[in-house]
Amino acid sequence: MALYDRVALIGLGLIASSMAHAMRQGGLCREITGHARSAETRATALEIGLCDRVFETAAEAVKGADLVVLAVPVGAMGAVAAEIAPHLERGATVTDVGSVKQAVIDAVQPHIPAGVHFIPGHPLAGTEHSGPRSGFATLFKNRWWLLTPTDTTDPAALARLRGLCEAMGANVDTMDAPHHDLVLAVTSHTPHLIAYTMVGVADHLRRVTQSEVIRYSAAGFRDFTRIAASDPTMWRDVFLTNKEATLDILGRFTEELFALQRAIRLGDGDHLHEYFTRTRAIRRGIIEAGQDTSAPDFGRVAEGATTTGKVRER
Ligand code: NAP
Repeated sequence: MALYDRVALIGLGLIASSMAHAMRQGGLCREITGHARSAETRATALEIGLCDRVFETAAEAVKGADLVVLAVPVGAMGAVAAEIAPHLERGATVTDVGSVKQAVIDAVQPHIPAGVHFIPGHPLAGTEHSGPRSGFATLFKNRWWLLTPTDTTDPAALARLRGLCEAMGANVDTMDAPHHDLVLAVTSHTPHLIAYTMVGVADHLRRVTQSEVIRYSAAGFRDFTRIAASDPTMWRDVFLTNKEATLDILGRFTEELFALQRAIRLGDGDHLHEYFTRTRAIRRGIIEAGQDTSAPDFGRVAEGATTTGKVRER
């Protein structure tokens, strides 16, 4: 059942293209319009049927839309909002899918005209792939989609957007933006920074040991390289805009690392064993919450699995 008449996707990468596939599969809107920076992406979006119509400007793409989705890197949200603002329909909803919420609100909200609802959002789903061809309809299935409304958010507009996210397979929760940014700093942003760092260390080492790091790369390192292959623009923007929360968590991480370093130096096996027992329990909790499977992952594509990359929270 169509929940919106015309949805405008601004930015046509992994998230927007997955939304397009999911909305088409579920018949959730009547028409999808779109805009991306490059002519190549716009042409691809038409070619593979993501959009019914694409436009050279975001301003043209949002005309007549009752839902506008900002799916560009976090650092580009403010400029896009400024451009589309005069062209938004009264009564329309604008949402975004940015990985950081407070910075997007600060950049976008001032441009939203009276009579238009801005409801920030963040689907906790992604892969290390990007671009219009990387999307797939089931990306959001059984993943969280966090919305960060305020006290003044229109309840009917919120319920309608929630309905769309749920119809795409997501579980929806609401929270305030600073809390979102802190939670994501723990669950996504800092882990990504650690993966980038570890792969950087190995890259440095590779120059010493020739190709051994690559040839004999074990599961732990391979998982890091997958995460560290994520889009550089997106992640640059995440760290520039979720600065305080990331630095807070990074400080705590460093303290824990020093404690483990000390345990190794002192040969304190009890400390290490007790620590790893606690972390193992957290993994079990994630599996019990249905957010991953207990299937062993040796970095090979399991039979029947997709080749689109392993879905995970971002
Ligand atoms: P992506 O695959 O890299 O696609 C980004 C899209 O935005 C491309 O179509 C790009 O156009 C377009 N774009 C970039 N700058 C633009 C600008 N200034 N004006 C207009 N279009 C512009 O990105 P994505 O992974 O879908 O991420 C989009 C948003 O979702 C980001 O805010 C990210 O934080 C958030 N998010 C990502 C993930 C994830 O795992 N990837 C998960 C949750 C949320 P061109 O192709 O023409 O360059």
